[in-house]
Amino acid sequence: MQKELLENDVFLMAATQFDRAADFLELSQSVRERCKWPKRLISVTVPIQRDDGETEVFFGYRVQHHLSRGPVKGGLRYHPGVTLGEVAALAMWMNWKCALMGLPFGGGKGGVACDPRVLSIGEKENITRRYTSEMMPFIGPEVDVMAPDMGTDAQTMAWMLDVYSTNAGHLVPGIVTGKPVALQGSEGRTQATGHGVAFLITRAFDKLGINECEATAIIQGFGNVGSYAARTLSRYGVKVTGISDVTGALWNDRGIDVEKLLTHVERVGGVVGFDGAESIDPDEMLIQPCDALVPAALERVITQTNAGKIQCKVLAEAANGPTSPQADTIIEERSDIFLIPDILCNAGGVTVSYFEWVQNLQRYQWTEQEVLTKLETKLETAFEKVTHFAKREKSSHRVAALALGIKEVAIAKTARGLYP
Ligand code: GLU
Repeated sequence: MQKELLENDVFLMAATQFDRAADFLELSQSVRERCKWPKRLISVTVPIQRDDGETEVFFGYRVQHHLSRGPVKGGLRYHPGVTLGEVAALAMWMNWKCALMGLPFGGGKGGVACDPRVLSIGEKENITRRYTSEMMPFIGPEVDVMAPDMGTDAQTMAWMLDVYSTNAGHLVPGIVTGKPVALQGSEGRTQATGHGVAFLITRAFDKLGINECEATAIIQGFGNVGSYAARTLSRYGVKVTGISDVTGALWNDRGIDVEKLLTHVERVGGVVGFDGAESIDPDEMLIQPCDALVPAALERVITQTNAGKIQCKVLAEAANGPTSPQADTIIEERSDIFLIPDILCNAGGVTVSYFEWVQNLQRYQWTEQEVLTKLETKLETAFEKVTHFAKREKSSHRVAALALGIKEVAIAKTARGLYP
């Protein structure tokens, strides 16, 4: 298993980042080994009947990295490229993210290798229901709480809740987060990740003396995270000059009208063909001058090839793992880029998931204003912690964020000791 994981490029990247931070913290060999490897790797087959009557078997995964600090928390992803190794890497990042934010969770991530863009709504529902039923022995509000991720949404969570609750014989709202408000989802959860990204960018602008009303941003990815980041940034007065998704990339020096683009995307399914901007090559878009560059799509899009060419002042990692370790080294050496590392930058989602879980356990509902204010307080605290640590220890923001998260997990593991 160890070998198989290390053969996966994304897992190798997460493991390399972990090793760097663990070296920095001088973790003991025992704690280091216990922190690094996932506790449970679950693989299942998910057979469903397609709309044409054929049976198709999909492959699904859930990795629960560690359960030492509470239930496992993390999203469920539907994407053709999902593999066990990728899910394990994403689960590992969730650990450090939850710990950095002070949330009482371990990291988890799940996925089904499928293309949600070509599945009908009924097929997606069947995959979700069957996947949840296969996961029944391994999940629960005190064990593992899933949430939306790439290719999944509030409806996916509603189906999961339905399967779990029907089997339990009563409504179990705390089984998932990111569900519809009507099913005791939290106000503010849908926009939480993008809102957090935009909020942290303004914190970084403050540190750099950039006025947000004169600033520009480029956003790669226009799903839940990218679109809410774009929306919030433009509400703050930032000009969003470049936006891309899988269908293409757009450019407008005067700023793209984000609300109009959202209407267009709702109608045609992607950014391509929007008449309020020129089209641009997606790779070229990434290297245009801007104040904030926001990769909000897949892993490893900032690479050895483009890291030296990007022209941003702030690199806000809205996606998980968007910068390869080689690119990371280049960015660190350049020292003209203020990095907001992924486990901090996109932590708004899981933080509001935590708020949702707390509300569910208490059978209570907070207002959107309460949620967003509490979110900003938590993000601000984590942001200050990371920037102070980096300054004091003369480390990169990435190492600072990872070290702060890993240290919390190491303390919990040390305190609990080794059983038996
Ligand atoms: N999928 C999101 C992430 O990667 C949210 C996870 C959650 O809310 O549990 O952080």
